Amino acid sequence: MKFTDFGFDDRLMEGIDASGYENATPVQEQVIPLIMAGKDVIASAQTGTGKTAAFLLPLINKIITDPHEDHTNNALVIVPTRELAVQIAQHMEGLSYFTSVSSIAVYGGGDGNAFVQEKKALSHGADVVICTPGKMMSHIKMGYVKLAGLKYLILDEADRMLDMGFYDDIMFIIDSLPKKRQNLLFSATMPHKIRELARKILHNPEEVNISISKPPEKIKQEAFIVYETQKIPLVKHLLGKKDFKSVLIFCSSKISVKQLTRDLKRARFLADEIHSDLDQPKREEVLIQFKSGRLPILVATDILSRGIDIDNIDLVINYDVPHDGEDYVHRIGRTARAAAEGSAYTFVTVKEQRKFMSIEKLLGKPVPKAIVPEELGETPAYNAAPSGGGGNRNFNKPRRFQNNTKR
Ligand code: AMP
Repeated sequence: MKFTDFGFDDRLMEGIDASGYENATPVQEQVIPLIMAGKDVIASAQTGTGKTAAFLLPLINKIITDPHEDHTNNALVIVPTRELAVQIAQHMEGLSYFTSVSSIAVYGGGDGNAFVQEKKALSHGADVVICTPGKMMSHIKMGYVKLAGLKYLILDEADRMLDMGFYDDIMFIIDSLPKKRQNLLFSATMPHKIRELARKILHNPEEVNISISKPPEKIKQEAFIVYETQKIPLVKHLLGKKDFKSVLIFCSSKISVKQLTRDLKRARFLADEIHSDLDQPKREEVLIQFKSGRLPILVATDILSRGIDIDNIDLVINYDVPHDGEDYVHRIGRTARAAAEGSAYTFVTVKEQRKFMSIEKLLGKPVPKAIVPEELGETPAYNAAPSGGGGNRNFNKPRRFQNNTKR
């Protein structure tokens, strides 16, 4: 379907052309007409499907063409992380470039200057406010945010926001909004708690389901069955084997992020880290370096696993097994975007084997197990017996790891 088929305003069409979009993606094809018709929508769509433009385009079009009050904030887009807020704001800027629709990103971690700017915009009224829940709640509590004329509410990555404990903040914000408004909820997964949230917020919603719970075939997935002590030597080995241009390594804790980055730097790899202990300017700087290709190796907590749009990553390493299958798909989905090809390696320790088996179950097939180089010592066996017992009784005891590399 072509974008010309949606009947968008010419000024918006110019922004679409300038962004290089020709055909609508499946989520856009389904969601845009519903939003244009004024319906509430609940959509399960992951990042990479074009979901951001699926709500921004009809939103911009409505703000251009529908009568609305000046000096009020018109639309609120609530997202889980600062990075996603910045990214959506950039998208918004590109698509609305030839229109007079205004927007602002409101997120924590900025300096006093950012706060003054946010306060000014929110008390004067921006067309589209893209915000993280905690920061928006603080502004609302201070009493100057103009919300009386607000017409659109969008929750993006709603499952992620609930996982991060933002339920109360979100409900506080929603209680401050006019009751009559159009509501859109996007979520990669649809667990019970999201349905509950949707029931509270949406009115007779239309449901759209575009979730890809399986990673694209072109991602070469491999798992390394290892002991914890083998992980750092293995990362170094893999990075030294090939000249990767852009490598993203996910760890499940800040401590491992810091330790691994330190070790990689010591071994003269060009690596840096991103996690919630860094202040916002530093996080932005590291992301810019990585996105531009000047920094080839980024070690991250899973702050980056969803929603962040970085192209051309050729290797993702799960240094720890992700929490669940959806997280796994999100993390490895950072590679092989668009036409590129990519690899995804996952390190699985003995105590993570059960978790990884359930991920394999979700994927519908086992992830090929790669051979750990001999010089790293013997590795544990992978007990592929189905959980619940009854299967393979020949579970090999983990063999001794000889090369006790000190970290
Ligand atoms: P998203 O799922 O919103 O994170 O979008 C993923 C990427 O697809 C972003 O880089 C968008 O700019 C891009 N994109 C969104 N819609 C289209 C489209 N219709 N044609 C080409 N690229 C698109």
